[in-house]
Amino acid sequence: MDRLGVVVPDVPAPGIQFRDLTPVFADAAAFRVVIDAIAEAFAGRFDAVAGVEARGFLLAGAVAYATGTGLVAIRKEGKLPRRVYREAYDLEYGQAALEIHTSDLAPGARVLVLDDVLATGGTLAAACTLLERAGAVVVGCAVVLEITELAGRAPLAGRTVLALESV
Ligand code: 5GP
Repeated sequence: MDRLGVVVPDVPAPGIQFRDLTPVFADAAAFRVVIDAIAEAFAGRFDAVAGVEARGFLLAGAVAYATGTGLVAIRKEGKLPRRVYREAYDLEYGQAALEIHTSDLAPGARVLVLDDVLATGGTLAAACTLLERAGAVVVGCAVVLEITELAGRAPLAGRTVLALESV
């Protein structure tokens, strides 16, 4: 099992080297290591886990279950059925927007934000902004893999960011 995923050239656009982590998630032992490492790093410091659609959901559900905490979905625009906050952001390959329900979190809830990969940091920065607009306290962000050349920690300056692996 390669903990850094499988490199897929020119996906989703020419020139992008996509890191596919699905083999890590498909490996039972590796998935457990990932979930336990994230849960232990932030043990006792969060009340809920926020997952960023879609691969962040895979991590967030498992960490929330393992730690007995709640789960909040941060979704791509147009998917959530009730009133939302919306944040537009730049991606390595285009633009997008994320949304969160305005009322899924108790005021002051301490939230850990999860996604599979940190690239330019725009996605996690938007997710943190959404959570704070919804009244949460973001205690940190965690990813399986950080692509360091894309400097994703810059838009997350001042925040706690855990990356289990980096390239
Ligand atoms: P960022 O906003 O940091 O540039 O991009 C991170 C977001 O895009 C994450 O939601 C992540 O799932 C996705 N992403 C960007 N690059 C990659 C990649 O190489 N591999 C995977 N698996 N996801 C990526």
